[in-house]
Amino acid sequence: MTSNGKILVIGSGFAGFWAALAAKRFAGDRVDVTLLSPEPVLQIRPRLYEARPETLGVDLLPLLAKVAVDFARGEAAGLDPEAKTVRLAHGAQLSYDRLIVATGSRMRRPPVPGAETSYSVDTQAEAIAFDTRLAEIALKGTVPTIAVVGAGFTGIELVLELRDRLLFHGGTEAAERARIVLIDRADVVGPELGPGPRPVIEEALGEARVELRLGAQISELSANRVSFADGSSLAVDAVALATGMAAAPFAAQLPGERDHLGRILVAASLRAPEAPEIFVAGDAAAADTGDGHRALQSCQHAGQLGRVAGENAARDLLGEACLPYKQLRYLTCLDLGRSGAVVTQGWDRRIDKTGAEAKAMKRFINTQLIYPPIDGSAETLLDGSSTDTMDRAGRLKEQAA
Ligand SMILES: Cc1cc2nc3c(=O)[nH]c(=O)nc-3n(C[C@H](O)[C@H](O)[C@H](O)COP(=O)(O)OP(=O)(O)OC[C@H]3O[C@@H](n4cnc5c(N)ncnc54)[C@H](O)[C@@H]3O)c2cc1C
Repeated sequence: MTSNGKILVIGSGFAGFWAALAAKRFAGDRVDVTLLSPEPVLQIRPRLYEARPETLGVDLLPLLAKVAVDFARGEAAGLDPEAKTVRLAHGAQLSYDRLIVATGSRMRRPPVPGAETSYSVDTQAEAIAFDTRLAEIALKGTVPTIAVVGAGFTGIELVLELRDRLLFHGGTEAAERARIVLIDRADVVGPELGPGPRPVIEEALGEARVELRLGAQISELSANRVSFADGSSLAVDAVALATGMAAAPFAAQLPGERDHLGRILVAASLRAPEAPEIFVAGDAAAADTGDGHRALQSCQHAGQLGRVAGENAARDLLGEACLPYKQLRYLTCLDLGRSGAVVTQGWDRRIDKTGAEAKAMKRFINTQLIYPPIDGSAETLLDGSSTDTMDRAGRLKEQAA
């Protein structure tokens, strides 16, 4: 069968991977689909606060080969929507008939001296570098102090994992005695999580003996010191940043309006407003979930945005009407280390589960739900590209029962 055109997907995260598969599922041999990324790896970013970050990437080449999606290695550096070409950082150029921008997000480092060289767990490489430092600290033989800046989702999950991570590296004494400090300029922990789950989070932080330094403005960071705007400072063995995310730089190449996180404001079809051949998905897209809420920069939304963007790019190329993106169910599941986890339902984040029950759900999400079916057939992979995240959860649980 002759191809009706080329779909190029930029980014091999949750959005880009599922977009490529959804395009292929809908159009089969009628379109050529290429996934462009610096490495053919799906980084399991939601788990990068955990131990063994070197294991938290999925090799996509065997999966893409099963469904006849091509892989192009490279970093997109420029875009010409008129000519329908993408320029790569190493100089080559790729053309497309429909483009899906799924370039994700990057942590926003605070604008203070030293922030550029502080640790983080934003990418697999950064998480590995932090883990290497933790391994050194664990065996140093002194009582360590580790600071985490940012008391949002990632900062909370990270501080509550640190004692066990020191233990994992053989630092029994360090794990027991470490001083762990969580810093935020906000006056409360988890400011964006709202008041619902806060008491449970505060209790877990207390049980883990995490010191809170809230309402604190940092002014400078170095390898061994955090300085504050009030003139005080804290000597540390390591400081890791968890200061929130914004769209990765490539999104700035697209024409059109963006939100305060640099995401492109897309239509319900996920089409870029000023570039009709371009669709945007995942952390690069500011999309309405269909009920007046804005999709978050989350894995939960990225996968589903990718599935819809991929199918719509294929539909559009084949002259069929696009579908509206809708994602009405929303839950959060926050790992609380030795205190279990907390699950909330809905945008007002009503507590649904805590303790061991919530922890079992977190394990299911982190070890099954967010992974593609690695050993699955082409049919299973393509089938997953049509499924809503929550439906997938239901199916996986049925299979396990
Ligand atoms: C520590 C941590 C914990 C998290 N916890 C949770 C959680 O519990 N629940 C949850 O729902 N979400 C969580 N998230 C957020 C979640 O990981 C992201 O929302 C999700 O990864 C977004 O998927 P994405 O595909 O849009 O982007 P990404 O995963 O960021 O993938 C983007 C892809 O694009 C590629 N790329 C970027 N720029 C270019 C370019 N110029 N050219 C080519 N390729 C490019 C990247 O290499 C990458 O392959 C967490 C994130 C972190 C860092």
